[in-house]
Amino acid sequence: MLPLMKYTSTRRHFLNRLSLLSVASSLPVGRFLFSSGAPVLANSTTSPTTKSVVKNRAPLAPSVFHFLPLGSIQPAGWLRLQLRTQADGLSGHLDETWADVGPDSGWLGGKGESWERGPYYLDGLVPLAHLLNDAPLKAKAQRYIDWTLDHQAPNGMIGPTSNDDWWPRFVMLKALTQYQEFTGDSRVIPVMDKYLRYQLSQLPQKPLHDWSKFRWQDELLSVLWLYNRTGSSYLLELAQLLRKQGYDWMAQFADFQYTQRITAEYIKLEKGEGLKDLALATHGVNNGQAIKTGPVWSQVSGSGADRDAVLRMISELNKYHGLPNGMFSCDEHLAGLDPSQGSELCTVVEYMFSLEHSLAIVGDPTLGDRLEQLAFNALPGTFTDDMWAHQYNQEPNQVECSLHRKPWTTDGPESNLYGLEPNFGCCAANFHQGWPKFVASLFMLSGAQDDAAKDGLVAAVYAPCEVRTEVRGVAVHIVEETGYPFQASVRFTVNPAMPVSFPLQFRIPAWAAGTTIHVNGQSAPVSEPGSFASVDRTWKAGDRVEIRFPMTPRVSRWFHDSIAIERGPLVFSHNVGESWVKLRDRGMTADWQVYPTSQWNYALNVDADAPAKSITVSESEVGEGPFTSRRTPVRLSVKGRKLNDWRAEDGVANPLPQSPVVSDEPEETITLIPYAAAKLRITAFPKCKS
Ligand SMILES: [Zn+2]
Repeated sequence: MLPLMKYTSTRRHFLNRLSLLSVASSLPVGRFLFSSGAPVLANSTTSPTTKSVVKNRAPLAPSVFHFLPLGSIQPAGWLRLQLRTQADGLSGHLDETWADVGPDSGWLGGKGESWERGPYYLDGLVPLAHLLNDAPLKAKAQRYIDWTLDHQAPNGMIGPTSNDDWWPRFVMLKALTQYQEFTGDSRVIPVMDKYLRYQLSQLPQKPLHDWSKFRWQDELLSVLWLYNRTGSSYLLELAQLLRKQGYDWMAQFADFQYTQRITAEYIKLEKGEGLKDLALATHGVNNGQAIKTGPVWSQVSGSGADRDAVLRMISELNKYHGLPNGMFSCDEHLAGLDPSQGSELCTVVEYMFSLEHSLAIVGDPTLGDRLEQLAFNALPGTFTDDMWAHQYNQEPNQVECSLHRKPWTTDGPESNLYGLEPNFGCCAANFHQGWPKFVASLFMLSGAQDDAAKDGLVAAVYAPCEVRTEVRGVAVHIVEETGYPFQASVRFTVNPAMPVSFPLQFRIPAWAAGTTIHVNGQSAPVSEPGSFASVDRTWKAGDRVEIRFPMTPRVSRWFHDSIAIERGPLVFSHNVGESWVKLRDRGMTADWQVYPTSQWNYALNVDADAPAKSITVSESEVGEGPFTSRRTPVRLSVKGRKLNDWRAEDGVANPLPQSPVVSDEPEETITLIPYAAAKLRITAFPKCKS
């Protein structure tokens, strides 16, 4: 009756005999709950930050919004607890249990790993440590920072002498710019300046190649960051050279050719061409990083077409490779529309980082919509609840996590295991930036490049936080309290040091028709979905703004006319019963396989035109661990029927049958929980014929 379960139980029995079986350790139990996301206050030792915003310096084109200096936004509520979970998990201990970033790292002067892994780790560890004001974590990050700053070669080169690739230094520059913003360390800018002058002198004879050629836009961010602080004209020359030597991503997406699932044969992997242009142009992480290329370059070129290229890139990736968790498939090359295909964790965090910068430069609210989709679904969905283990590839329809080669385009059999470094160690080193950089994007400054008298603030993406910044010369403190994305209400308390007039903008997501805004209890006008609503007034201490978003369930359409259920920025999944089987210990953590213990092959009986009629919503308080199946604060009930012909092979759900489908099986009530909470899941469902 249940071949799947039979296989599972046999497999478990086998592993049990090998003494490898263990059930996932119990999850940390919430230490406390708090009412609807009321803020867990920032550490009192964190001094209020009112550093000035650095806007683009002429002749750079102005960006629509501007990042607040790091440290201006403090995570609160569930978001702060999520960062704490991250710090208590692998992020806070990776160096203790993984030699690649351990004491022998080349980035600490040792003989160990000397390429991208040290800088990757630091790129997330620096903001995590400083946002939590966690002294031991800050000390960990400081060792790598100090080594890099104190060991610059006389010619200007930074990093391990055993490896002179440009690419890992792109990442170290990103870490250094963040560190400088948090600390103001006066060593950073001279070291960066000397290094970039050196690089400009070397690039003509030692040009960008493979990874650095395809990721040049990431270095450009740091080049422009420094230009905005020093105004040295050689940096604009360097920007032009990076563009000239770098891959032309805008051209790739102006005439997008990679519309099919990419295979190992297509990119000639077996002939050793994995680092040739064709392979790198279709590589998931490269595409995730590339999404910001148009906006970032537009600051130099001044071209509106470059700036808007981001929307076309996202649209093309979504059209041919889009998945219901907001990602495009990349396992690890572009993999088509089947929701059994995977997406690499590096791509999730790099796509988020691209969206954060693109949103600031372009000011298009749909970029914020997608950023939330990734942050609230794909990012937490690919970690264990305690963040001690992660996947390389996650799938929207993920019915088993086990050693299998199918269905990946080019990845290996460990790719969807939860573990220390399944498949390849890049994600273990790189994932740390996801949550901390998201915090930095919650609020941005609006206003003209050269006129602070026109400044305002923008709530760009939503999560509980506190902001301390300066607007039009007045210190402003804002508290954002919310159980969003699980709950409808977002409440802001605005506390300027003295009454000050400025526009406060709120992103109205494209899905949010019917949003209401109240200012001190009075209804305020709301702009169309997919825009920014502006409340322009003289703000006084204690002013309150409450936004309520419509949280009625929606239906979206996917592969073979399947459907996914969304509510707010969350997509919902059927949580397949999970049996966690330890494959092996890995130092302080372990590698896990997850086998299904219940059936998953359901088609949904939902009225796609009026889904709210056939879906029941139940909410509870938002506390610690909202992205876990035990503590998820929102569940949906829907009707469905089993579809006996839809099965798994080799641990992978077969392609969905074309919808609508007919099933003679009895109707059942099925519970859906947020995608991220369901580690085995169905997200795209066949739709029953009505
Ligand atoms: Zn990776």
